[in-house]
Amino acid sequence: MRHLAIIGSGPAGYYTAEAAQKAFGDDVHIDIIDRLPVPYGLIRFGVAPDHQSIKNVSRRYEKVALTDNVRFVGNVSVGDDISIAELQELYDAVILATGAPNDRTLEIPGSELDGVIGSAAFVGWYNGHPDFTELNPPLDGKNVVVVGNGNVALDVARILAKTETEFAGSDIVGHALEALKASNVEKITLLGRRGPHQIAMTPKELGELGKLTRACPRINPDDMPDEGDDAMLEPGMRKSVTHLRAYAAIPEEYRADKSVEIDFDFFAMPVEIQGDGKVEAVVVEETELDTDMRSNGTGNRTTIPCDMLISCIGYRTPPIEGVPYEHGRGRFASDEGRIMPGLYCVGWARRGPTGTIGTNRPDGYAIADMIAEDIGNGAGKQGREGLDALLKSRGTDLVTFRDWKNIEQAEIGRARDGAPREKFVDVEDMIKARGVM
Ligand code: NAP
Repeated sequence: MRHLAIIGSGPAGYYTAEAAQKAFGDDVHIDIIDRLPVPYGLIRFGVAPDHQSIKNVSRRYEKVALTDNVRFVGNVSVGDDISIAELQELYDAVILATGAPNDRTLEIPGSELDGVIGSAAFVGWYNGHPDFTELNPPLDGKNVVVVGNGNVALDVARILAKTETEFAGSDIVGHALEALKASNVEKITLLGRRGPHQIAMTPKELGELGKLTRACPRINPDDMPDEGDDAMLEPGMRKSVTHLRAYAAIPEEYRADKSVEIDFDFFAMPVEIQGDGKVEAVVVEETELDTDMRSNGTGNRTTIPCDMLISCIGYRTPPIEGVPYEHGRGRFASDEGRIMPGLYCVGWARRGPTGTIGTNRPDGYAIADMIAEDIGNGAGKQGREGLDALLKSRGTDLVTFRDWKNIEQAEIGRARDGAPREKFVDVEDMIKARGVM
């Protein structure tokens, strides 16, 4: 028997488990360990609550979870309840599928002011991550600045702009829906340090901004490159730029009944955040691109009012003591996922926060092949029996997949009308709910 421990129950974790099942058949036991009592990581806490069709991928993970040789071990924090070294003693392979839940921070003066928020915190808040329940983002001001031109910036802008009705069918958590209903936000400025041809926004997601009830995008047509240059773009990017061109052509009359503006400010780099205790304004420097398409400041600076700034500039994997780490890239140091024989990383923890959810599938399969090469038939380790004994001796209360199904039922049962669930946002409440059935 081979024993595998996967740390993290998001897409990278479940695709790796699926691949290991395919590779080893019945001859493997896989424990998927998560610090929270609920599974699915990024799917539950990262994917936007109004993108339920994307969240449905969790059904595929559930199929894996319900097989005999896979186990969910929730409410166990690696680093606190058990160390990596202990797991390596117990399992033939330990796979870090811990994602990249920490924000890359804006290293500019003023970024410590109140009202400056990273996307991990803001997204976690509206998705009910227990770490961010108390965020209370300041939604009483009119002006929000969102830094970054990727899909997370789009998610954040869209969530800020939607009306209550537009959240029908979503699983946005109650505290966020209530706060957004009372929001005074009128202008959302998306700051891109480069131009329309350098955005990291995908067409479907960008297209959604043009269909909002009370909000309308605004783009200065002068920022758009010559239309003929679009031919050089790859097809997905060309589609995205087509949306930008449509937004740049929106006539003023169309805006008359729109109360929220989503302003794309290209070639604009934040250089300072100003305010007395809390953010009040952002100093933005105009940029131009060099021949390598890198942005360089021109020295022309303007100040824009700002009541809340949300930076959506990428994520980092939290380091784990004793595991080699690439500080510059914010991920574990590995050779294609092999940190050392017996210790691996996969998904965003391996390659950084790029790609779609599906990108994690080939990643998982590649790691399973590598593990097969390294561990042979296994070294007679204790695996899950050893883990259970150790956690019991430490009084750790582990949450099983069956418990999760009870929690899930309780969340479905308390959903508001039309919503798929009302998530528990507190670990204690999650744990209490496992006993409801
Ligand atoms: P991203 O795609 O890497 O975009 C980050 C953005 O931040 C880029 O526009 C980047 O500009 C900008 N940026 C970085 N550092 C900056 C700085 N110091 N100052 C100003 N701007 C800065 O990251 P993301 O939006 O966090 O998304 C992460 C991954 O999740 C992506 O693969 C994304 O596609 C995926 N995702 C997908 C969906 C979906 O499919 N619905 C939703 C959310 C996220 P430069 O290009 O100039 O570096």
